[in-house]
Amino acid sequence: MTDAHCHVCRGEGRRFICDPAGSVPGPGDVVFRGWHPWFLDGFDSESLRAALAEDPSLGVGEIGLDRLKSRDITDRMRSAFEEQLAVAAEFGRPVVLHGAKCWGQVASACRPYAGRIPAFLFHGFSRSGGLVPDIEAMNGFISIGPALLNDHAVNYRELAASVPERMLLVESDATAETASALPSVSAIAARLAALRGVPTEEMESVLESNADRFVHSLN
Ligand SMILES: [Zn+2]
Repeated sequence: MTDAHCHVCRGEGRRFICDPAGSVPGPGDVVFRGWHPWFLDGFDSESLRAALAEDPSLGVGEIGLDRLKSRDITDRMRSAFEEQLAVAAEFGRPVVLHGAKCWGQVASACRPYAGRIPAFLFHGFSRSGGLVPDIEAMNGFISIGPALLNDHAVNYRELAASVPERMLLVESDATAETASALPSVSAIAARLAALRGVPTEEMESVLESNADRFVHSLN
């Protein structure tokens, strides 16, 4: 199974890794580079541009906006996001998005780049389904995470059951600190299959072909 979003190498199978600091990606893994909205110290879009120019296999991420750590989105956060979207569009690379508590604003910022940015991953997306048709229209994917295994996450399960099949991915969002405590993406896929009333193998093959489509534009 493909782990569609993580920060360290863990488990079996392919991984889409954002900034694998200190972790060495395997041959099938796909690496994404970018400045996360929590960590903008030293932000410089020129070095991202140089990295993409040098390596055609790189995606862009994790980038976006955040209202989890502070209520307001700063100008600096917004301009770093915009600049990185522009660089991703310039090179035609898929993007992994962060949008905690501000997914509407993230989607609005991405919309003008639809087509020039080949695909978007709305990682950790947990809003109700209202934004889903918009996300679908820009070739966006929604990755379902470990919260699906929490029996109290009723709204999240409703979202996971209703997202169109061709947009679905599964993710761990594993970091060096959290990796050992997280369920496997196979366990998330099995729960997703049960929730949607399809055989597990069928769900797994859908998720794999979606993962292929998300990174299709990369060499
Ligand atoms: Zn992450």
